[in-house]
Amino acid sequence: MYIELSIILLIYTLIGILIFKIPPKKSHNSMYPFLIYILFTPVSLLLGWLFLKKKEIYICLSIDADLSKTTQDKKAIKIIFQLLNKLKLKNKVTWFINNEFNWTTTFKDELNYLANNYDVQLHSHYLSNHKTGAGKAYAKEKTDLERFVKKQSKKYQCIAFRSGEHIMSPSHFKILNNIGIKIDSSVMPGKYLKGKYDFRNIALNKSNYCENNVLELPTYNKLPGLTLMNTILPSKSPVVVSFFFHPFELVKNNKINYIKVLQIYALLILNKIHFPKAQWISVKDAYDIVN
Ligand SMILES: [Zn+2]
Repeated sequence: MYIELSIILLIYTLIGILIFKIPPKKSHNSMYPFLIYILFTPVSLLLGWLFLKKKEIYICLSIDADLSKTTQDKKAIKIIFQLLNKLKLKNKVTWFINNEFNWTTTFKDELNYLANNYDVQLHSHYLSNHKTGAGKAYAKEKTDLERFVKKQSKKYQCIAFRSGEHIMSPSHFKILNNIGIKIDSSVMPGKYLKGKYDFRNIALNKSNYCENNVLELPTYNKLPGLTLMNTILPSKSPVVVSFFFHPFELVKNNKINYIKVLQIYALLILNKIHFPKAQWISVKDAYDIVN
C-alpha cells in the first residue's frame, strides 16, 4: 500500500514539475495537463487532508480582463459573471482592467457592474510595446480608471497593478510606488519566458514580500495540486495564493469555447474542494490581511 502510494506521489510530483516548467502561454492552450491533474486529484486531496488541518489559507483569484477583440467578448464576460455568482465569489475576486480593450466605452455597462460588485484594479500592457515612459503611462491609466469607477463607487482608489505579459523588474516597483500603487501581482515565481520575464530566482513558496514599499502578491499555476505542493505545503501559515485567467480564453474563432468554460469552472471547483477552509479574497483585501 505504502509503495503504491509513494509511486503515485512520485509520478504526481514529476508531472507537476513538468507542467510548471512550461511557459504559461503553452500550458494554457493544452487540455492534457489539466486532464492528468483531474486524474490525480484524489492523491492531492489526501495530501491536503493530511497536512492542511492547521494552515490558514487565503485564495486570491483575479481576472486579467484582456479580450479576444471579437463580437463574443460580451458573452464571455457574462459567462464569467454567471460562474462567479454561482460559486458565490462575487465581491471576492479582482478584475484587472485595461482600457486598451475599450472597457470605458464598448464595455461601459460591464465596467459599471464591476465597479459596484467587484474589486477593480489596473492592468497595463504598456511595456509590451515601449521600453521607457512607464511611470507617466501608468499614472494616466490609473487616473482614468479612478475617474470612471468613482462615478459608481465614490471612495474608490486604484491601489493594485498587474503588468501585461508579466513584464516586471525591480525598478518598476519604484515606479509603482511613486504613483501610489500599494500592491503588485505581476510576478510568477519560477517562470521564465525568453525576452519577457525571468522569475527563476523567486522561490516557489514565496507567497508575498515587499519591494520598494510595494507588496508583491505573486501568482501561481492555477492547478490546485501544484499550488498545494509548490506553495502551500512549504509556506508558513498564513499563506495567500493568487491565480488568474482571462476572458479571451473563453473565445475561439469568434465562438464561445464551451470546453474552456467547463475547464475554468472545473478549476474553480477543484480549488474549492482542495482548500475547503480557505477564504477567497480580492487583491485589495489581501493587502489588508498581509499588512
Ligand atoms: Zn494582459
